[in-house]
Amino acid sequence: MKGKGVNPSYNMQAAVDVDSRMVVGGYATKNAVDSGELSTVLEDIEETTEGKNPKVLSADKGYEDLKGLQELKEREILGYIAQKEEKSNSCYPLSSFVYDETKDQYLCPQDKPLTLSWTDKEGKKRYVGTACTDCHMRGECLTSKNPSPTSQRSISVSPFLPLRNEMKERMDSEQGLQAAKIRSSTVEPVFGTLKYAKKLRRFCFRGLNMINSQWKFELAALNLEKIVKFRISKQLRTA
Ligand code: SF4
Repeated sequence: MKGKGVNPSYNMQAAVDVDSRMVVGGYATKNAVDSGELSTVLEDIEETTEGKNPKVLSADKGYEDLKGLQELKEREILGYIAQKEEKSNSCYPLSSFVYDETKDQYLCPQDKPLTLSWTDKEGKKRYVGTACTDCHMRGECLTSKNPSPTSQRSISVSPFLPLRNEMKERMDSEQGLQAAKIRSSTVEPVFGTLKYAKKLRRFCFRGLNMINSQWKFELAALNLEKIVKFRISKQLRTA
């Protein structure tokens, strides 16, 4: 797995149903980060549950991925995924610019327009400033280290930006805070139990297929244990 160098390691995924606390998906991946895994997690849940789709899904901010947001929308899943803070070396990050839908242009905090320059094949749009050369804020606003006297500020806007903004609003709501709390008591314990209680610190095999098999086996064993505990406690309650 590529991380800090290349290591013989894998990234483990798991999905847990809130009501039953049963694991409903999980696999091993060579992707060093969780970003980009949301689609595969959803496919995995679908396979494990024979075609079911979650109505609500909560994941940590590592899963922040614009295409994943699109997938949630297409599958009509209400998602709760914290969004990373936008990094910018400008005093005016992208969130400071206001979109004018009628003209398909942005207005900067100095009320100057940035017009559409080009759109790439994935729908990402680039808007370029039209009045930056005389602006008193150009020193703080322009992102290039050595701007020329004719440099203009530009911003790149993903077609999924509205979905990200919606997600940010949802995460700031009371429901967003609740979803984060619930996640820490559902999926996090799976990793805690396997790593610390079951002492699964290393895998017994090599290669993605074998690691994947062992991980699925461990998750299935965890599910069986939950079923057994549930049945015993039910019998005790009945008795
Ligand atoms: S440099 Fe351009 S985009 Fe930035 S504040 Fe000035 S006019 Fe607006």
